[in-house]
Amino acid sequence: MTRVYVPDVQVETLVVEVVGDEAHHLTRVLRVRAGDSVGVFDGRGREWRTQVGAITKSSVSLIVEREVSPVPEPAVRVTLAVGLLKGDQMDAVVRDATVMGVTAIRPVVTDHVAVPSKTWRDNRGQARWHRVAVAAAKQCGRAVVPTIAPVTPLVGLWPTADAPDAANLTLACVEPAAMQGGTARDWRTAARPSAALLLIGPEGGWSGEELAMFTERGAHTVSLGPRTLRAESAPAVALTLLWAAWGWT
Ligand code: SAM
Repeated sequence: MTRVYVPDVQVETLVVEVVGDEAHHLTRVLRVRAGDSVGVFDGRGREWRTQVGAITKSSVSLIVEREVSPVPEPAVRVTLAVGLLKGDQMDAVVRDATVMGVTAIRPVVTDHVAVPSKTWRDNRGQARWHRVAVAAAKQCGRAVVPTIAPVTPLVGLWPTADAPDAANLTLACVEPAAMQGGTARDWRTAARPSAALLLIGPEGGWSGEELAMFTERGAHTVSLGPRTLRAESAPAVALTLLWAAWGWT
């Protein structure tokens, strides 16, 4: 099923006019024809089945047939906070995290982030990562596109000194070298919360100060095994373990 993202969809009119990049994608890449079935989703969890009507050079009219049940979302709203990685690695993280069902992604600057500040200061990445998330949502069937927050310092995740964000469980994935002597919480013992904040460090890992901050802010340190994973792979592995413990939906 061809799917198109229309964030400001007005289905009451029974016709959805698709313009811009999405219209271009429908006509030039997917080569839809009048009468074809197209799914429309709003990125906030609603989806409709439509049929292609008129096609012009710059727009496609989609005639709404009915609302459909979207692919179920996980019961736990997970925010992934990830230390900034280089361009294509960050894209891979956004793609995987979207397909794996996260609700929000927060790129963070940490002590060992190696990406030069000129590449993230103006937040150019935010729009690009949103596009990556939209493409991933289309591919995996999700009707929700995770929100992508502007790049913030790690400490910005905690709005007050002792409140761990909106999440009621914060899990910091700590690489084996930094875990030395510390204790990792067993994933399976974490009772299912309604929301969770999952922290993954950058290629350079966490600093001693950051590890101390996790303890101060009530974060639980967790392990992904005795081998050090690539930073871009760690989110998908962590999310697999979370859904195995809490269920996919
Ligand atoms: N530079 C670090 C080192 O040499 O030890 C490795 C950092 S690792 C590439 C990047 C991030 O992935 C880590 O900060 C952590 O969040 C996560 N990670 C990688 N392997 C992990 C593991 N086995 N357990 C928990 N987290 C892991």
